Amino acid sequence: SEILLQIQDLSVEFSGYRGIAKVLDRVSLSLRAGEIFGVVGETGCGKSVMAKSVLRLIPEPPGRITSGRILLRGEDILQADNRRLRTIRGNLVSMIFQEPMSSLNPVFTVGNQMREVLQLHRPLDRHAAETTCIDLLRRVQLPDAASILAKYPHELSGGMRQRVMIAMALSCDPDLLIADEPTTALDVTVQGQVLAILTRLTKEQGVTVLFITHDMGVVAQTCNRVAVMYAGHVVEVAEVTSLFAAPRHPYTKGLMACIPTIDEDRETLASIAGTVPELIAPPPGCRFIARCPHAKAVCNERPGLFSVGPDHFVACHLYRSDRRQEEST
Ligand code: SF4
Ligand code: MG
Repeated sequence: SEILLQIQDLSVEFSGYRGIAKVLDRVSLSLRAGEIFGVVGETGCGKSVMAKSVLRLIPEPPGRITSGRILLRGEDILQADNRRLRTIRGNLVSMIFQEPMSSLNPVFTVGNQMREVLQLHRPLDRHAAETTCIDLLRRVQLPDAASILAKYPHELSGGMRQRVMIAMALSCDPDLLIADEPTTALDVTVQGQVLAILTRLTKEQGVTVLFITHDMGVVAQTCNRVAVMYAGHVVEVAEVTSLFAAPRHPYTKGLMACIPTIDEDRETLASIAGTVPELIAPPPGCRFIARCPHAKAVCNERPGLFSVGPDHFVACHLYRSDRRQEEST
């Protein structure tokens, strides 16, 4: 199907007092129109930096995009001027974050903020904007819309705030929604409800979603395809069913072994020995080398993405006998 977003050879560095960290190193991904594409990995793997790069939200300095292209329907977002960037951010790509309090203004009511966002994009009078807000809140299953519009953000629960954010993000009818850990701050039950709403609405509206998470369970519930990231590299890309049926990369296998049960800490990946490498002086080849039980001399060269099945690619030398094929769809 049609490709909506292509990230090609994206590299991002951050300079700090200890040196320059290569946070993303020639990362490439393609999102097909209408799919929910997950990017999963531990804190610091570069997934949020990648998501923010798409909207040019990397603070420069200390950040710097050193290579690559980010093509939205063929247009390179990295080349857009400020005026075009405003259009892209307002009409084509929306983003929701882990903590909606940081995107909602605490001193204005929910209604004020929703109307303002709507009226930026559509020529609506106050009454029409109000009606549209109520409709949007119903769609995210907040039926008591009138009372919610009169409230300040801190008067809502975390789950309600995140629903308001989803409603606002979808109100401009974007082509692409970037969701960065949108339910991580919520308890498991509320998380499930919010994910169900997000999945249903994006399917209904035909919105493509780039879904960032550290949680394989959330990937399984939500995504069509997924990229696994480790230390600034994409190590595996697959359909979710295929990844869960047969994960190939040693790191992915470790992640799968660590899917926590409901009462365990969802952030620990204790069964993978070792630690993530320093991104200031990363290993030259596979960045998983120090933790990998299969590491060989050849792993000092960066592996390409090898095809291991329909729509399933892995960046690991164990699979180099499989036909080499860059991921392009
Ligand atoms: Fe292990 Fe080598 Fe594969 Fe990296 S490329 S995961 S070190 S076998
Ligand atoms: Mg993050």
